[in-house]
Amino acid sequence: MFDDKRSKKVLLIAHCILNQNAKINHCAHYPGAIREVAQILIDAGIGILQMPCPELLCLGIDRQVKSGLHPTVESEDTRVARRMNEDQAITICRKIVDDLVYQLVEYRKNEFKLVGVIGINGSPTCGVETTWTNNQDTQGAGVFIQILDEECRKRGISLAMRGIKAYEPLRAIATVVNLLENTLV
Ligand code: SF4
Repeated sequence: MFDDKRSKKVLLIAHCILNQNAKINHCAHYPGAIREVAQILIDAGIGILQMPCPELLCLGIDRQVKSGLHPTVESEDTRVARRMNEDQAITICRKIVDDLVYQLVEYRKNEFKLVGVIGINGSPTCGVETTWTNNQDTQGAGVFIQILDEECRKRGISLAMRGIKAYEPLRAIATVVNLLENTLV
């Protein structure tokens, strides 16, 4: 089935890799996509499944910051981390994950290759190797990636997960190239 030009390879990426407009204030490092990473993915000929931005769906683009306040990025990340662990946010994250897992199951059923997931390290929500707690970058995954990982494991879906940071483009390129080299063999 699917006898056409498609590669039958799909990679999940954090929303803000293609759309920095979704970032919290002072955290967008590109006008739109993280250019270098987007170019590698386009050139690799894989399908790019842009996951929704959980923080935007839970808290809005301004993350419900109180008007008139001028918080630091660090204190905002800590506040957002707390909000994203509230029941309502967890419920929304679970719904997003359910929708994604449905798509993954469909792809797998039809023998597409699931290349993996690229998240955003240091994010309280989409971090893979590091997340954000108590005003600092800490080891561990963000709340959304944790839920995605748990659900995939339950369904027996094996996904390589890697994190990048928009302000470290050379490191991000190396990480993405490494993921593609290890999974597209
Ligand atoms: S890291 Fe995740 S939650 Fe944060 S802006 Fe990107 S997609 Fe949204």
